[in-house]
Amino acid sequence: LTLAVTKEQIAGETRVAATPDTVKKWTAAGLTVKVQTGAGLGASITDEAYTAAGATIAKTVKDTLKDADIVLKVRGPAKDEIAALKAGAIVIAMLDAYREKETLNALASAGASAYAMEFVPRITRAQVMDVLSSQANLAGYRAVIEAANAYGKAFPMMMTAAGTVAPAKAFIMGVGVAGLQAIATARRLGAVVTATDVRPATKEQVESLGAKFLAVEDDEFKNAQTAGGYAKEMSAEYKAKQAALTSSHIAKQDIVITTALIPGRAAPILVTKEQVASMKPGSVLIDLAAPQGGNVEGCVADQIVDVNGVKIIGLSNITASIATDASALYAKNLQAFVGLLISKDGALAPDTEDEILKAALVTHGGAIVHPNLKDA
Ligand code: NAD
Repeated sequence: LTLAVTKEQIAGETRVAATPDTVKKWTAAGLTVKVQTGAGLGASITDEAYTAAGATIAKTVKDTLKDADIVLKVRGPAKDEIAALKAGAIVIAMLDAYREKETLNALASAGASAYAMEFVPRITRAQVMDVLSSQANLAGYRAVIEAANAYGKAFPMMMTAAGTVAPAKAFIMGVGVAGLQAIATARRLGAVVTATDVRPATKEQVESLGAKFLAVEDDEFKNAQTAGGYAKEMSAEYKAKQAALTSSHIAKQDIVITTALIPGRAAPILVTKEQVASMKPGSVLIDLAAPQGGNVEGCVADQIVDVNGVKIIGLSNITASIATDASALYAKNLQAFVGLLISKDGALAPDTEDEILKAALVTHGGAIVHPNLKDA
């Protein structure tokens, strides 16, 4: 059985889908692993490190994918990669399946069996494969580092002979995996942290991290969590109440970090133009929802928008700036997932009834097969 890892082609994507550590496990189990030259460089992994782990280095996409039964990627494959797939190859990646329809159609036409890692269900058995969590955790950390870097003042309070430096006030909007890590990181740096979410379960989590919770706690809030643990899209009425509550608060913040997402939908606007205008010059907003349209009005992905001295920073791929750790965790997630597809003796043996495989399979047998994507 041959596993292949190509170099990511999307601009700025520095992560890689396998590390010497995961390659070693596969080669020890008798699998052949091919890695495209330079695939790991963005994550500081050399070809030599892959070779030492038992991989073969291939020059081109074609050479890498020739004979590959399973292709591991961070992001969806490019056209030349899809063209180079052997018939019936398995492709595993964060396919961004709701938005990357063209890639899905191409994968289906090529007869590939493609698994979208972002569709792996959030059940206990699948925690080790949960790429949303492994990447969001690092994104939340990194968002605070980016904020601290762009902020012209200090985060911690400092009492010095020359005067006192006030602590930064940081407001985290959306307290999923990324938001929780952002709270923890901002607290470690010494900021005074508040946070908000529409899911009631987050209140206790925020408080347990030593931050203060702020939200409109009405009946709609009490029912805002879906059975799957995600947020529902809130009504216009709730959003208006939420905006009224957060307005005076946002005006006093130095740092605002937004992370609010609703699966399959555009991100909700949580900070309006007026609220941005109410902030003090020097304040920084980091919008982690930028790839899904953004939580901050006026945010432009991968640009620093300056509104009267207030910086809005929307990073479309923040985990790429922490590529070594992001790759290591992602590669481990994939290693666990591949474990569902192969038998102990290293042969391809997917259990098609496994609920994790069923939930993540998006194309198979020449068609798009995922129920959420079929009619799109
Ligand atoms: P996410 O990335 O989908 O969204 C980020 C946060 O934004 C969520 O907390 C959401 O409630 C919030 N949000 C959405 N709309 C909002 C609005 N209008 N205002 C304020 N906040 C808003 O979330 P995530 O990090 O993927 O986590 C989603 C859920 O999955 C959580 O319940 C988390 O605990 C759960 N989870 C479970 C497992 C597991 O059991 N294996 C693993 C990870 C996460």
